[in-house]
Amino acid sequence: MADEQQWVYDFAEGSKDMRELLGGKGANVAEMTRVLGADRVPAGFTITTEACVAYMEAGQDEPAGMADQVAAALERLQEHTGKQLGDDDDPLLVSVRSGARESMPGMLDTVLNLGMNDTSVEGLAKATDNERFAWDSYRRFVQMFGNVSRGIDGEVFEQAIAEVKADRGVEEDTDLDTAALKELTERFKTLYSEHTEEDFPQDPKEQLRLAIRAVFDSWTGDRAKEYRRINRIPDDWGTAVNVQQMVFGNKGDTSGSGVAFSRDEVTGAPEPSGDFLPNAQGEDVVSGARTPRDIAEMEDWLPDAYAQLMDILRTLEQHYGDMQDTEFTVEEGQLYMLQTRDAKRPAQAAVRFARDAVDEGLLERDQALMTVDAEMLTALLVKTFDPNADYEVITTGVPAAPGGAKGEVVFTARDAIDAAAEGRDVVLVRPDTNANDVGGFHAAKGILTSLGGKASHAALVARGMGVPCVTAASELKISLEDKCIRVGDRTIAEGDFIAINGTNGEVTLDDVPLVDPAEDPAFDEILKAFETVLGWADDTRRLGVRTNADTPADAKKARELGAEGIGLCRTEHMFMAEDRQPKMRRMIMANTRSARKDALALLLPLQQEDFEGLFAAMKGLPVTIRLLDPPLHEFLPDLPDLAAQVERARIECTDDLDELEELLETTERISEENPMLGTRGCRLGILYPEIYEMQVHAILRAAKAMDVPPHPEIMIPLVDYEHELEIMRELVVRVGDDEGLHEGEDYTVGTMIELPRACFVADRIAKFADFFSFGTNDLTQTALGFSRDDVESKFVPVYMERKIIERSPFETIDKPGVGWLVRLAAWVGREAKPDLKLGICGEHGGDPDSIEFFHMAGLDYVSCSPFRVPIARVAAAQAAI
Ligand code: PEP
Ligand code: MG
Repeated sequence: MADEQQWVYDFAEGSKDMRELLGGKGANVAEMTRVLGADRVPAGFTITTEACVAYMEAGQDEPAGMADQVAAALERLQEHTGKQLGDDDDPLLVSVRSGARESMPGMLDTVLNLGMNDTSVEGLAKATDNERFAWDSYRRFVQMFGNVSRGIDGEVFEQAIAEVKADRGVEEDTDLDTAALKELTERFKTLYSEHTEEDFPQDPKEQLRLAIRAVFDSWTGDRAKEYRRINRIPDDWGTAVNVQQMVFGNKGDTSGSGVAFSRDEVTGAPEPSGDFLPNAQGEDVVSGARTPRDIAEMEDWLPDAYAQLMDILRTLEQHYGDMQDTEFTVEEGQLYMLQTRDAKRPAQAAVRFARDAVDEGLLERDQALMTVDAEMLTALLVKTFDPNADYEVITTGVPAAPGGAKGEVVFTARDAIDAAAEGRDVVLVRPDTNANDVGGFHAAKGILTSLGGKASHAALVARGMGVPCVTAASELKISLEDKCIRVGDRTIAEGDFIAINGTNGEVTLDDVPLVDPAEDPAFDEILKAFETVLGWADDTRRLGVRTNADTPADAKKARELGAEGIGLCRTEHMFMAEDRQPKMRRMIMANTRSARKDALALLLPLQQEDFEGLFAAMKGLPVTIRLLDPPLHEFLPDLPDLAAQVERARIECTDDLDELEELLETTERISEENPMLGTRGCRLGILYPEIYEMQVHAILRAAKAMDVPPHPEIMIPLVDYEHELEIMRELVVRVGDDEGLHEGEDYTVGTMIELPRACFVADRIAKFADFFSFGTNDLTQTALGFSRDDVESKFVPVYMERKIIERSPFETIDKPGVGWLVRLAAWVGREAKPDLKLGICGEHGGDPDSIEFFHMAGLDYVSCSPFRVPIARVAAAQAAI
């Protein structure tokens, strides 16, 4: 035994730091035993997650030594409790519960009342002087054991219960008398034999062996696998198994079971909350079969146990330094604590707890900040699906912009605009979106696409506007021609109702109620707590937080949410508005440079107005403006559509034939096979310098027109070679001289770093840059060779399932690959220019995990969409703690 691995730990041996080995439940129950004493926590032992892993690796075979260690632990438990499993006089009964490192509610199996057999049922009846209770426990055990250990369908047992109730003419399970329960137990045993071709095991040790195996096996069940995939829990963690002495909440009027939180788990208010049921086992409280009572009512029922419970909740919260979620049982007036864990909580409870915990001296600010799940905070800013609502999810896509939205299905931006004008709520549904659809984004309550991903057009634009959006819902077959969506065997037509949850990617046809945080009666209180927590985050973080914004309205919103500047204004979005498109098209169609300049002259005042709006909204804070980036054909009609139009015009000899033919010819000329790798970014600026010249004039004229001097940072996109930047910088400075403004004083010039080559030669590029802003969307696309507009609806889900990747690289930065390029460029860039300012403006700038990485990589700021600014503030603080 000396060298044998320890597979089993008594509760008294463990602690909360042993979570990986003992699972969350095992570690917490061990810790609770230390804190509250052995009388308060029913004794038991934990079989480790390592045992589960070894069992799985060996093809469902217990590792050597485990069985002996379980037997020895059982001996100790029997000694400690003074009771024997299977005894005919006051027998020991145990629960056998799963317990993974991260809780997986309801996904893994549990067996209660283990140890019941034909002998111990008599013993239990004697010891409790309650025959009915004993037989009820036995029949529950056969039912649960049969279901969990041998996979017998729960319905089979329910059917038998219904028959016995019907025979006796009773309605409720609780109306079944002892004789009925005896009969039911016999029926259950027969069902067991029929299904397994074995007798129901009478030996409690055999029962225990099978139950432990069943819990291990539940780790690899379909339910658990699916849950792990969605929640990104690794498959190779395994689950621990906790074997614990049973205490009984169903022993009569001074017994009961309940769940209790150390504070209100929904609002975060400082009063404990929870539910209980007299004369019931824990499963009855959570199953919903009986309506539980509010924990406050427990005081009238059992004042001593209630006072002890309140005291214990305080003690546990103090000890863990976090809100606790506990399960308890009262057995004949004696309170037992079965479980405690940090409470899961919605955003409002998270901020309120963090603030109150510091006020109460429970936590230091840094500790309090670490209790907040940054990612959840947008729920305080947007309408969300009611968390208590029941609805059927028809498919799930990528959660691209948070919030819930619902309305009639429309398929075109035009229809969205018309519907909104009539006051109808609509969701714009398209395979993907482009510049022409932007008008519809404003009009729609939400956007749903079957293609794209986190960094596709729909996602970027919707996120900027705060419109809920789900992309890459690839199971949806959207036909724009037939104006319908097919999913499975359903067809959803134009005008049908749909609801989308941009926070988790769900799509449903049910009318899910939306919760507006601003309508919460405690909203003022929540907001105060939120402000306090954000204030602490600002004091703690080193990273600056800016926003990606293209309109004054977005910029203003972001400033209100704490943005310290604009890190990316995508100027192309300014040309997408419907009234600007003809002018833009004229510019693109121009055949000569001078004709193009004339067209640009018409755009200049509009651009200038845009920038004035942005500067005014940002009141002197830095505003990074990126010169035109996308390929020009994006502003022209879709090529196949246009070809069809021309064909029709030719047949019908319409007046606009010449114009259409010219448009087709230009579109064909400038269209590219791989536009993302084509004539875009600074390549446009080099081919058509007049476009960038117009934009720089507009920026600098706007700057001159402002009362509060703005702080423009002019950014050149998609640079590969230092010479590209050198040429573009000269252009900017030349226009600056024309406008009488000086580089370095009135404006600065920098570049996006978004191509692998640029990372490798960042020292050369830095010579011509005042700042770098990492464009991690394109950098991910080009470093991995993954199309940012396609892969999330194509192979990324399979890659995640096959464990090739854990998350989409467009959501969380691929640290060893793309992240390494960022670190390299930051390092060599600063070697060449020590005061080089470094930011990141790809979508990763709003992702907490990526933010932690950017903090470590030494960047100066992150820039993200307005509604993610609070998330970034908190995540940046957490990275610094
Ligand atoms: C990027 O590539 O990361 C970026 C911010 O630019 P865009 O998404 O506009 O290409
Ligand atoms: Mg880019």
